[in-house]
Amino acid sequence: MRPAILILAPLIASLLTSGFAQTTSKAPEDEKAVWPISRSREPDTNLVVFPFGPRNIGRYDFHGGIDIYVKRGTPVGSILAGRVLYMNKSTVLVQHSDQRKTAYLHLDSVEVSKGDSVKAGDIIGTAGDINAKDVHLHLTYLVGPKRFIDEVESRNPLEILPHKTPPKPNVQFEGNSATVTLDPGLMTIRRITLACNDSTTLTLDYREIIKQGRKPRQNQNQSGIKIKASRPRRNEGNQRVFDLLLEPIDPEQNLRQVIIEDLNGVIISQTEK
Ligand SMILES: [Zn+2]
Repeated sequence: MRPAILILAPLIASLLTSGFAQTTSKAPEDEKAVWPISRSREPDTNLVVFPFGPRNIGRYDFHGGIDIYVKRGTPVGSILAGRVLYMNKSTVLVQHSDQRKTAYLHLDSVEVSKGDSVKAGDIIGTAGDINAKDVHLHLTYLVGPKRFIDEVESRNPLEILPHKTPPKPNVQFEGNSATVTLDPGLMTIRRITLACNDSTTLTLDYREIIKQGRKPRQNQNQSGIKIKASRPRRNEGNQRVFDLLLEPIDPEQNLRQVIIEDLNGVIISQTEK
């Protein structure tokens, strides 16, 4: 038996590999992500306080994941099936297919080991505040070849997490700046373009900003635009929102129009001053 298994092993491995590649290209049911707290495929965005992209946590930064606020000890599930690539006492990195990975940070406890297979929704640990100021789950979605967590590979987790269609962002002009009001749980912006009177266009591309690496992405000046973000607040309808304030750095460039594209490159808002 033993020699036969040894001979068959590479064949089995290649069959498994090709089978795996095939299932990902077919995008079976298993490939749909579940939310990490509800472990449900229903849209579940109410607990997201800080989205992917510009945010304000008392100071500006460009956030490489989403922050989900829950009580300490709340079970956290893997959002897709995969294998645990790395873990330590507060972090789990799960490898999925096609160079996709998800990372779960600030965990209070970790309930998987390196090499473990998980299904979508399987518990990988519990929420905590290790290496964080308050208790929340930081979820990072990464696409790329790296075998560790490097947020240059980060993408907006809403690319794969089920969510509702966001409402059309409200854009207000004041002086030479524009304020875009957004729901952090439905923050699906990929690009924002400021069109100016002299026919120049300035474009923030969230994916390009993150690719610059940790330090350059924290710069509030990107692509000729000064970015500010407000702390999350409640609007008249008691929904959590935050404001993104955008302004051409060059005062000679008179802001005329704001064009917002979603994660699929679809224009979701085009507002004239
Ligand atoms: Zn975070």
